[in-house]
Amino acid sequence: MSFLKKSPWIIHYDGTSCNGCDIEVLACLTPLYDVERFGVVNTGNPKHADILLITGSVNEQNKDVVWQIFNQMPNPKVVVAVGICATSGGIFAECYNVMGGVDKIIPVDVYVPGCAARPESIIDGVVKAVEILEEKRAAMTKKRKMAKVRRVSGPVSLSNMF
Ligand code: SF4
Repeated sequence: MSFLKKSPWIIHYDGTSCNGCDIEVLACLTPLYDVERFGVVNTGNPKHADILLITGSVNEQNKDVVWQIFNQMPNPKVVVAVGICATSGGIFAECYNVMGGVDKIIPVDVYVPGCAARPESIIDGVVKAVEILEEKRAAMTKKRKMAKVRRVSGPVSLSNMF
């Protein structure tokens, strides 16, 4: 974790679920599992968040909420689907209003298995998400630098060749 430039901020959303995974996510914040030792901060504002942690499946009613939260997060951002419901719809997949896993609506970077997902698996998923976040951040910085170089050198024309 020494490669981290800043503390990753996480926003948690629980979709259609039995709340089992939701409770396990909260357990990660307790002193027993203490996800804050990785510098992780839990935020309620998507505009401050780097990582979106979703438990539960997506349905007709919450699909817009998931989409709004994702869209309000600044780039780079990483999405973690926690538990089988968030991964594929799980036991709710056959329900009349359930669309399936989170990736039916937004791109997912990390899938955490389990029903319920264990706190150790969730922490593994968060650590993986932090790695992906740093990769995305480095790629964005490189792209920005390349664009700057292109702007400074300007387009090639006959007048600046001679
Ligand atoms: S994966 Fe299992 S424990 Fe988690 S929300 Fe779905 S049904 Fe509940």
